[in-house]
Amino acid sequence: MSHAVEARRFVAVGIEAVNNRIADIQSRIIAMQTQQAAAATKTTAASSTPSASGSTFATALADAMGSQSTAGTAKSYSLNSKGIPTELAAYGNGKIPSNALAQVGNTGHKLWAPAAESLNKMVADAKAQGVTIGITDSYRSYAEQVDVARRKGLYSQGGLAARPGTSEHGWGMATDLDLNNKAQAWMRANGEKYGFVENTPREPWHWAYKPASA
Ligand SMILES: [Zn+2]
Repeated sequence: MSHAVEARRFVAVGIEAVNNRIADIQSRIIAMQTQQAAAATKTTAASSTPSASGSTFATALADAMGSQSTAGTAKSYSLNSKGIPTELAAYGNGKIPSNALAQVGNTGHKLWAPAAESLNKMVADAKAQGVTIGITDSYRSYAEQVDVARRKGLYSQGGLAARPGTSEHGWGMATDLDLNNKAQAWMRANGEKYGFVENTPREPWHWAYKPASA
């Protein structure tokens, strides 16, 4: 019986090793393809204008409907099975057009527009309570994800970067915050009210935006 257990464990470890190896190979291929992908994105940007404007209308409509709710929080959106707003999923991770993003405060950082709006409100409310929240990172294009993965290593291998094309930053749905102890505690107590959740072990600075599902 113990032999069977050992055999199963051996198989499981073997599969994990193979999966890790595949992830490693995929990320290497991805790194090599980056320049081609960047070039392709420029080409498709022009041809995807009709769907982009359609999504903009959908966003405007959602905003108009959402603005009828009180307090300005908790608008809801159509999400896919992975919790990604369908309008963003249509663009692809790391390929969100600038008209779907909005600047955060007066930083150069951008997020999916509803996430940016909520983050701006959160930072302002925190400031009014004497808490300073800094922003160190936000939306990452596909090419930027490849760069971060190269510099910081893949999370699955002990590093701090998602596999390119899968990062929450690539949806404009996550921000990395500069938080002192007081601000970290404030975020853990209040972040969720603004839709921001701490969802990544080893990364207390990483806050993902989780909109309500329509
Ligand atoms: Zn992050």
